[in-house]
Amino acid sequence: MTQASSDPTAPFPAPAIGIDVGGTKIASGVLIGGELRGRHVQPTPETGWPAVLDAIAAQVQGLQAQFPDAARVGVGVPGPLSLDRRRVKFAPNIYGFTDVPLVEGLEERLGLRVVLENDAKAAALAEAHLGAARGTGSSVYVTVSTGIGAGIVLGGRIWRGRHGIAGELGHVTVMPGGPVSGAGLDGALEAIASGTAIARDASYALNRDVSTAEAFTLAAGGHPAARRVVDQALRHIGVALSDLQKLLDPEVFVIGGGVASVGDAFFEGVQAAADEYAGPFAPVTIRRAQLGGDAGVIGAALAAGQEGA
Ligand code: ADP
Repeated sequence: MTQASSDPTAPFPAPAIGIDVGGTKIASGVLIGGELRGRHVQPTPETGWPAVLDAIAAQVQGLQAQFPDAARVGVGVPGPLSLDRRRVKFAPNIYGFTDVPLVEGLEERLGLRVVLENDAKAAALAEAHLGAARGTGSSVYVTVSTGIGAGIVLGGRIWRGRHGIAGELGHVTVMPGGPVSGAGLDGALEAIASGTAIARDASYALNRDVSTAEAFTLAAGGHPAARRVVDQALRHIGVALSDLQKLLDPEVFVIGGGVASVGDAFFEGVQAAADEYAGPFAPVTIRRAQLGGDAGVIGAALAAGQEGA
């Protein structure tokens, strides 16, 4: 039941397998005509990258046994990729994932063409085609989670830029002299407004361990220091979106990720700051991600559909 479409950027030419490799789990499924089927999840091996590649290959083979028409494979990973998108430079949340020849390793194991994508970019593609930005010609997806990532989708395709770094919103400097990020630069957005940063700042302010979720709960209850930490983070995210609006003027921003799952308090804070800093320019349209945990798998399958053999 493949869905025909007259859209030249239609990403569903054939059933495609999507794999989303995370720090704790590997999720997979088959995208058929815009519908995700055969969902499968297993823990991510913690014994080095060859074991992760073996696990991915086993999931692909299991899905192919169920869906023999699925000959395209897309894999999303949480880390920067080489410019040719055949290697993962590093994925700090996956044990042993440094300079991994993922495409070569999987193509050897499977005898199939494999397309590699960054997980935030994959989610951006998914939300653009099948989620909250469906029907738009331009969108920016932002994930506010352990870190902050983003993907820019123009005309149904990911905008990568000259070096493939387009969308590295978490590494945009918003406070020179601020906290130093994992990339070694001070004042990056994710060092100030990610889930990790909120927990760090709330823990410092309250002089005990405070999780991101608890920081939001305390803030909602009116705790002054927790409120200050949360408000500052949301303000920085909103300001960053207003900056992107002036730079790219996309039709819509979509925000997902664990921190955004807080819901109303998160989105109201971000929208208020975005509106304030949009000033007399264009309004900033922000929507909640719709695909939740499926976004990475769907996006990886879409990437394979767009670029697969
Ligand atoms: P990942 O970063 O691995 O993609 P998530 O998208 O789940 O994972 O994001 C994890 C981050 O989201 C952590 O910083 C965590 O504390 C935060 N988080 C998860 N659930 C909530 C919640 N209900 N409220 C606030 N923060 C949350």
